[in-house]
Amino acid sequence: MRTLQELTRPNIWSLKPYSSARDEYSGAAASVFLDANENPYNMPHNRYPDPMQRELKTELAKIKKVSPEHIFLGNGSDEAIDLVFRAFCEPRIDNVVAIDPTYGMYQVCAGVNDVEYRKVLLDENFQFSADKLLEASDERTKLIFLCSPNNPSGNDLLRSEIEKLIRNFDGLVILDEAYNDFSEAPSFLEELDKYPNLIVLQTFSKAWGCAAIRLGMAFASPEIIGVLNKIKYPYNVNQLTQKQAVEMLHRYYEIERWVRTLKEERGNLEAEFAELPCTEHLFPSDANFFLVRVTDAVNIYKYLVGEGIIVRNRHSVSLCGNCLRVTVGTRMENEKLVEALKRYK
Ligand SMILES: *Cc1c(COP(=O)(O)O)cnc(C)c1O
Repeated sequence: MRTLQELTRPNIWSLKPYSSARDEYSGAAASVFLDANENPYNMPHNRYPDPMQRELKTELAKIKKVSPEHIFLGNGSDEAIDLVFRAFCEPRIDNVVAIDPTYGMYQVCAGVNDVEYRKVLLDENFQFSADKLLEASDERTKLIFLCSPNNPSGNDLLRSEIEKLIRNFDGLVILDEAYNDFSEAPSFLEELDKYPNLIVLQTFSKAWGCAAIRLGMAFASPEIIGVLNKIKYPYNVNQLTQKQAVEMLHRYYEIERWVRTLKEERGNLEAEFAELPCTEHLFPSDANFFLVRVTDAVNIYKYLVGEGIIVRNRHSVSLCGNCLRVTVGTRMENEKLVEALKRYK
């Protein structure tokens, strides 16, 4: 790995971050707070939230089995994705490499930050080759993006290739594990200490059932986390979100139950789809959705909209011609979808 200083934009490396009132005071318990120009009325929403989300990170660290200094929290994973561009990629000079097809936000953030985005096509099983990604990279490649289970294909990427890439790339590998809760594959979180150039992304938006509160996690070495913390907005995770997330962490058993149910329902729904006349090919899924090649994605999508059922039309995405991406819902929602598709002519 190049040194973190070599990988970080010089202006970011030398940046002196904004120091908020809540940063400067973190000593013994006080009872009179006259330091942040807050309104003393309207408890508890009158106070700025903890900029470093200490309570939330302490609880999260227990469940994720990593220490708090390995955790960055943001306004969705999307914030972490944007911040890695801003921290490490010099606009118009540096580039990033990513598998294709994958989650659209990597390319959008590259565009916003004026950073070249190099796509490397997956094979027909939606697997990647570490060598091909390395061939696409050069000395100005700062980041390589992987997503496992991948969106929109739903499959886990091969662990041996992920490991090979992390070991052989001298920049940072961003591994998006938004759907790992639904997979049998172990998270790379356990490998964090082994790989100083690895950033693992996870989110409260999928298995945790908290898309509305906007909370994303990045796990990496304390040095990388330090760079992200330095450039984030001081109060990027609001108080309501921190409170709700702590509450969810106390109800972890419920998330485990949802995941078990959704994996079961995924199996049921896939079995139903295998029997549908409009199904051409079902792609294996390790997530809470699956990709299906149908006879005519555009028309079937429109037909379902007319029935009040929305799936994702991925027809125009690389390798996804005539494919729909279907999220696993409740038993009743899944049945409505299957019944509508049985009626489709
Ligand atoms: C849904 C999703 C996310 C979640 O993004 P948030 O900003 O945390 O809601 C991240 N990565 C992938 C691949 C996703 O599909």
